[in-house]
Amino acid sequence: MRILSGIQPSGSLHLGNYFGMMKKMIAYQENEDLFCFIANYHAMTSVTDGNALARGTLEAAANFLALGMDPERSTFWVQSDVPEVQELTWALSNFTPMGLLERCHSYKDKVAKGIAANHGLFAYPVLMTADILLFQSDRVPVGKDQKQHVEVARDIALKFNNQYGEIFTVPEAEIDDEVATVPGTDGQKMSKSYGNTIDLFLEEKALRKQIMRIVTDSTPVEAPKDPDRCNVFQIYRLFLDKQQQQALRKRYEAGGMGYGEVKQELFETVRDFFTPFAERRRELLADLDGLRATLARGADKARQAGAKTLRKVRKKTGLAY
Ligand code: ATP
Ligand code: MG
Repeated sequence: MRILSGIQPSGSLHLGNYFGMMKKMIAYQENEDLFCFIANYHAMTSVTDGNALARGTLEAAANFLALGMDPERSTFWVQSDVPEVQELTWALSNFTPMGLLERCHSYKDKVAKGIAANHGLFAYPVLMTADILLFQSDRVPVGKDQKQHVEVARDIALKFNNQYGEIFTVPEAEIDDEVATVPGTDGQKMSKSYGNTIDLFLEEKALRKQIMRIVTDSTPVEAPKDPDRCNVFQIYRLFLDKQQQQALRKRYEAGGMGYGEVKQELFETVRDFFTPFAERRRELLADLDGLRATLARGADKARQAGAKTLRKVRKKTGLAY
């Protein structure tokens, strides 16, 4: 089965990205035909500093590779290295009702947060649809925030197929309820663009700072606490198995444990979890030409896979004459 997902290099990758997406993608390599890309066209909706985008792209790639993405086994590339996806986006735009995009929560949320309402942000789900359809993806594992966009992709695929014949596989979203939405330090969805993240591969001091800013209520140390309403617990549990979660719950409910104490434990847990991958990440970032070469090979694989779809689209639409 072909599985596809992408991640924006719009800032440092964070625990929400890891548990919501990267961890699963890395595991899928075992048995599935994995397509995974760094979504730098998408990131242009929020990043206008060219150096930051270029650097973010290399770092996101290095993080993914260090954490276990295998570019031999999977197809791993940078979105803009296969610009054919833009041609497909245009073809699909003509099958995208305005109302479909106007209903998208992600657009509305971002605009409500003060992000400029430009056409790129609005049309983003069409580009995402092209990402999915170009490679005939069967499944798209996403966080809850992206579920609606996969529905948009299905709608567009059906409309297009209806007009031109069975060109596209109609994709399905896959959402893991366990980690549906990882909360950020303020309790809202952890998101690069919301400034509420706990990032992967931070230096100790910076990591501690991010963890200490997790918002908690003012229940005194001695009093029992409700883990289900605690942002620290909601993040900590991602690192724990069922039994460990149960034990931590008991400590919350017994009282006598302050939020500072559990934050310190979370800090150590996050640090120790990522330390084994940090050396590999450093090596990758110390050889940028090697990293670029790896990404170029990935782009070749992706381009070959997409070419067949695009040929059909050009033929059916009359672009090939
Ligand atoms: P941005 O704020 O720029 O949209 P983001 O932090 O939401 O960035 P994306 O690149 O949009 O990250 O998302 C990459 C993947 O990570 C997607 O599959 C998305 O669903 C998932 N993801 C992002 N944030 C979370 C989260 N807080 N919890 C679970 N999954 C998440
Ligand atoms: Mg997002």
